[in-house]
Formats: sequence, C-alpha cells, structure tokens
Amino acid sequence: MKGIVYKSTGSWYQVKTFDNTFYSCKLKGKIRLQGLKSTNPIAVGDKVDFEVTKDGDETIGIIKDFEARKNYIIRKSVNLSKQTHIIAANIDLAFLVITLNNPETSTTFIDRFLASAEAFDVECVLLFNKLDTLDQNEFGELKYLAEIYREIGYHCIGISASTGKNLDQVKALMIDKISVFAGHSGVGKSSIINAMDANINIKTKAISEQHAQGQHTTTFAEMHETAFGAKIIDTPGIRGFGMIDMEKEELGDYFREFFTLKSECKFHNCLHINEPKCAIKQALNQDIIAFSRYKSYCQILEELDDQDNSFRKNPHA
Ligand code: GDP
Ligand code: ZN
Repeated sequence: MKGIVYKSTGSWYQVKTFDNTFYSCKLKGKIRLQGLKSTNPIAVGDKVDFEVTKDGDETIGIIKDFEARKNYIIRKSVNLSKQTHIIAANIDLAFLVITLNNPETSTTFIDRFLASAEAFDVECVLLFNKLDTLDQNEFGELKYLAEIYREIGYHCIGISASTGKNLDQVKALMIDKISVFAGHSGVGKSSIINAMDANINIKTKAISEQHAQGQHTTTFAEMHETAFGAKIIDTPGIRGFGMIDMEKEELGDYFREFFTLKSECKFHNCLHINEPKCAIKQALNQDIIAFSRYKSYCQILEELDDQDNSFRKNPHA
C-alpha cells in the first residue's frame, strides 16, 4: 500500500493512505539514505510503500520503501556526531512570516532563510503579518522592504491574522499543497493558521523555545489537514532552516539576484568581496542589488569561513 507519513515518533510512523485510512507503521530493517548521515531515515511528508500485517491483534504496516524526495529540510545534530535530522520532506511551499516589529524580523534573518530555502530547493513565500498594527510610516517601511524581495522574484503578501486581511490569498496558494510556516516566535504563525482553520490544533510554541537554546530536545513534526484542502507540517524545527554547510563559492548561487549576474564577474570563482571586475559589486554600486542583501551575504560568507565543512548536504540524496 502507498501512503504519506503524517507523524513520526521515533520508531513508529503514522501513515495515511490515499483512501484516507491511517496505519501505524514500522520500518522494515534499515532503509539507507544515500550520502546522508541521518538519525531518521523516514520523515513527515515522505511517500512510503508498506505492507499490512498483524502484530498480535493489531493491524500494523511495515514500511518497505519510500519514494525519491522532491526536497527535504534538515537540522544538524547539536552534538558533534555530524549527524543530521530530517525535519520534513516533499514541501511544496514555505511561508516565512515576517513582522516589522513585535518582534522585529531582520533582513539578515530573512536572507539567511531564503538562501537556505534555495539550497534546499523549497519554494518560499513571504508573509508580512500584523499589518493592522502599522502606522503610516511603518507601512511605508514595510512596502520598501517587500519591494526588495518582489524585485528579485519572491511572492510577498501583506496580511493580518487579526483582521483576516489577505488570508484568502494565502489559502489559495496552499490548496492541494504541503506547506510549512516559519519565522521568529511571536510573528503570528499559529494565529495565521488558526484564522484560516480554527479546527487545526497547532501545537503552541516550540518546545525548544521553553528550554535553553542549544539544548537538545526531541520534537516531532506532524502534518495537519485543513478543511480547505491544504496540508501543513507543524514543527518547531523550522522557524528558521538554519544554514547548511556549503562551499563559499556556492553561497552566491542561493542569492537569486547574484546568481543571474555572476557569469559576468571576471573570475568564475568570484566571492564578490574584493575581486576586480565583479558584476555583483558593480550592481551594488548602481543600486541594482540592495545593500541589505549584500550585507547579509557577507555575513553568512564570514560564518562559512568559521565552520567545519567536512559535513555537507548532498543535494541529490
Ligand atoms: P507564533 O509564535 O509565530 O505562533 O505567534 P502567535 O500566533 O502565537 O502570535 C503572537 C502574538 O501576536 C499573539 O499575541 C497574537 O495574538 C499576536 N498576533 C498575531 N497575528 C497578529 C496580527 O495580525 N495582528 C495583531 N495585532 N496581533 C497579532
Ligand atoms: Zn563577483
């Protein structure tokens, strides 16, 4: 039988078949993942193939195989084992929820998220929430910010979870798709989802947020279905994707507007810092590339300098 993983709690997987029946499934032996040292071979969102069997009186499923993933997002293990944890697979849309203030979402946070999403091959939509709280000046600021991202091709929607403004647009994008909502704590992720479908009981606040940062807490992702035909993966693990390890030369590929220009740099391995005849620096000087985007790029590049690159995501796994 075929189905999609809706929940995973360590060794058991809740799998829903296409005729809407749930089965508790276990893995048959070890399903190996190519080139990825992962603590969990199967994740929420995976499409699996399983056999129905009896475990005493209970009907259970044994997962034999899973389909190649369209994409997946991972979290690095906090210890030094270089293991990864697959948070979710086969994501159609990631909504990044942004607020100008309360809390403030920095452009660095946005750019880091977008670069990760590009690297993970996850389509991203920017939701500017709490429009109802903005005065005219703030609204202007927000429009300016959104314009930076619209210009480079990201879909941006101004919304309010409180008044419901433009939530119909968000809903329309979600139908028949698997979505995740990311963004800082307090930006309104749960409020948005609740405003769209009051019956979905999204677990409040990330468990990890109640603990000291960096502490390892096991959190399980779960897929929910809305009455309007959308699937949402709820997990505290994707407020931000975190930055995956990559070669420094790669980073520019994940800044869309850089990627389209980089073939015009004199050096093919240009990092766009001090190299002569750099098309990115030129575009920056002409205000074609936003300064905030360039600043984020430099910051992430510097961090890549500091980290151990021996573990990398295999984009084709
Ligand atoms: P989460 O941590 O991202 O899930 O954020 P919550 O959904 O818990 O929202 C955090 C706070 O912001 C709550 O007090 C919400 O009532 C409030 N909030 C969320 N969306 C809006 C909005 O559009 N307008 C206003 N005024 N408040 C909002
Ligand atoms: Zn360059």
